[in-house]
Amino acid sequence: MLDNSKFSSRTQVTKDERKIIAGYEININSIGVAQKILQRELHIPLTNDKELMKKKVSAIIESSIFFEKLRINKLVRNALKVIIVTFSLIRAESAFSQTQLDSIIDKRDDTKLSQKKSTSEINRSLITESEYIVPEKVMIAFGEIVDPGMIGTPAGGYFKRNFLDSQGKQDLFYKKLVYFGYIQKDVERFKSYFQDGNIVFSENELEKEHFSDILVHERLHKGIDNLSKKDKKVLNEARNFILNDFRQKEIQWSNDTDSLFVLLQEGKISQQEYEIKSKEVVLKTNPILLDTEGTTSGLIPVLRNNEEFYTYLMMNKFQSQVIDYVKNNFPNSYKIFEELKNKIQYQIQKKK
Ligand SMILES: [Zn+2]
Repeated sequence: MLDNSKFSSRTQVTKDERKIIAGYEININSIGVAQKILQRELHIPLTNDKELMKKKVSAIIESSIFFEKLRINKLVRNALKVIIVTFSLIRAESAFSQTQLDSIIDKRDDTKLSQKKSTSEINRSLITESEYIVPEKVMIAFGEIVDPGMIGTPAGGYFKRNFLDSQGKQDLFYKKLVYFGYIQKDVERFKSYFQDGNIVFSENELEKEHFSDILVHERLHKGIDNLSKKDKKVLNEARNFILNDFRQKEIQWSNDTDSLFVLLQEGKISQQEYEIKSKEVVLKTNPILLDTEGTTSGLIPVLRNNEEFYTYLMMNKFQSQVIDYVKNNFPNSYKIFEELKNKIQYQIQKKK
């Protein structure tokens, strides 16, 4: 899904930015914001080495310097952690999430080069009607125009509507592509891809082992979008109930976890004690929705954008109690979800 975000450079993390990272502001690319904060406040250069980047950022997040410098609360801290830990997942989650860390221009040996080629070929064969692959530079040009706040290279996504929705944007797209050497006919063709419910990916995504994961993810968004009004309503009943349950219980536990955080900052409890105790506080309220770790930190993308509920359910990012709950309490929602999921997974299996 595509989000637009524009940010001026500031020297402090603002209240709004905190809210965004914590997942309480929808329609804004919180991942981009988080990364900008990391870059701006902590001067962490974005490297192409994803593993190194993860280690660096995790170390900083764990250290007390991080808290002091950003004066952040635990919600933000968890959000940042999740961003780093589930980087690949988040990439699949947003149309223009950050792939910069992933696009490693590494020194592959010849064996790996041929292997890379075959992965790319296999992945390309999965592409079907209304799905397109564009050169990386075309995807970047598009991303720069419709999502100027973006850091990194966009992977692609599901394009429900035309994001080049003004003459100015279209002219700019044209100008950029002509600069790359494309003729008008090519520009028109590329332009026609990024709309009408098409799914478009950057060519370099094909080289990735997990390409089929991001493909099924975007196909599910599309599948849900194409449901009849009635089916969509039925499907969303389960989602809304579970998310409401979570938000209500979150209010119950937030005071308790905040006071634990104060104790941690004052050095009265250790980091480990803090983590154990906060988890206990959350579990006591018994929310239906928990991530596979039994915590809430893996839920940020879903809380940020409820359209990610079923995509995350499909990717098994929740505890099994979530799917059981849907199945037992919302059988009609479950049926629609299962049908969509099976259809999408069958499409992939058939081609593999
Ligand atoms: Zn998504």
